[in-house]
Amino acid sequence: MRQSLSLFNTLTRRVEPVVPIAEGEISLYTCGPTVYNFAHIGNLRTFLFQDLLKRTFQAAGYRVRHCMNITDVEDKIIRDSQADLPAVASNQDRHSAMKALTDRFTAIFLEDLGTLQVLQADYLPKATDYIPEMIRLVQALEVKGLAYVRDGSVYYRIAGLPQYGCLAHLDREGMQAGASVDADEYERDSVTDFVLWKAAKPGEPSWDSPWGPGRPGWHIECSAMGMELLGPRVDIHSGGVDLIFPHHENEIAQSEGCLGHRWVNHWVHGEFLMVEGQKMAKSLGNFFTLRDLVARGVDPIALRYAIQSNHYRKVLNFSFEGLRAAENALKRIRAFRKRMEGQGQAGGGPWAEALDPLVRLDQARQAFWSAMADDLNTPEALAAIFTLISDLNAQDDHVALTHSERGSVLAFLDETDAVFAAWPHEAANLEAEVEGLIEARRAAKAGKNWAEADRLRDQLKAMGIILEDRKDGSSGWRKA
Ligand SMILES: [Zn+2]
Repeated sequence: MRQSLSLFNTLTRRVEPVVPIAEGEISLYTCGPTVYNFAHIGNLRTFLFQDLLKRTFQAAGYRVRHCMNITDVEDKIIRDSQADLPAVASNQDRHSAMKALTDRFTAIFLEDLGTLQVLQADYLPKATDYIPEMIRLVQALEVKGLAYVRDGSVYYRIAGLPQYGCLAHLDREGMQAGASVDADEYERDSVTDFVLWKAAKPGEPSWDSPWGPGRPGWHIECSAMGMELLGPRVDIHSGGVDLIFPHHENEIAQSEGCLGHRWVNHWVHGEFLMVEGQKMAKSLGNFFTLRDLVARGVDPIALRYAIQSNHYRKVLNFSFEGLRAAENALKRIRAFRKRMEGQGQAGGGPWAEALDPLVRLDQARQAFWSAMADDLNTPEALAAIFTLISDLNAQDDHVALTHSERGSVLAFLDETDAVFAAWPHEAANLEAEVEGLIEARRAAKAGKNWAEADRLRDQLKAMGIILEDRKDGSSGWRKA
């Protein structure tokens, strides 16, 4: 039975049912990382919210086709990767230096997602693999009169698109017609024509194009990859609230300018994260990556839970106290699971207030799904689980649940774990951990990070896991 789900749509500013374009299937595009540094927990909050979104649709009975791009050419990547190269470096050397930096941080990023039990996307395109598609898209916009060339760069003419500003709800009066901006990131008070293709500057890697050597702007990357891999109509496009303007506004301009019809039905954005009530900043000493927290002994799944137990559209105040509360909440669910996995003890006789556990279970399931269906209301969904735990623990103390009742409760825990990925069956827990480490090792090898690959192999060995590298390049494993 497929559950209908509603989400807040930034376009309309209303919670609206998601009606799939193709029956039973959701196409989902999420803006991926710009791979020049470690992701911080603010970035990871967005990826964890998107994982929750994807898993909720899957658990509700939909097939999800998910595309997440890897931005591996962009202003900051070029700044950081080219700093040590001599002025006379060849274009090939410049590309190699950029690739070395982005391969390294792509592998690290995928490893972090694995540690957090984030499901991998079906498509994980790198921007540099889609340069011809980007050039074709810019050409199509030129043909439609929505792009113009100036000094080897190509700009989008925002005055040419009536719906420009629809996502960020911009006041069209305030737009500066004719002015243009070259930077990928800018503020909404300087709404101007934006760059699609940037003419090469000295010291930058470049590609040949009909406009001379250059490189894509950041915004065109997502439009080109999204349309190429998910098609001309997409159910859901998502990112952090900081991407609404200019990035997503400009994606709409590019894609809809080319297609001539609506591209994405639902735009869904996750809120910021604060740390102990303050904006996260390196200068304040409250800037954390996943690795920083793991080094302090934080369980990554407790971090996952701490983030996902807050509603995605509320600013999250991350704190170490909150992490401890998350650890305790998880302990409670896991202890209950263990109790239900046991045989149960003979009860102390009839209990006057006893209710049929299956009735309570049914109430909990309904409460869980109506909360998740209402814009992913995780605090309420989790409250339904904790109410069930209190009720059934009390009941089990008096009259032990039968084997079949326990089985039904465990099935519900599996159903909810498919969404939260935090209270698996213990055997499944080990399996998930091992699979995560194997995936991380594969990513490390792909990124030629041999030291990391060896470290992961040793970690698996210490867990008593024997790896079997197969001829086809995949890896199997067994317990020693
Ligand atoms: Zn994007």
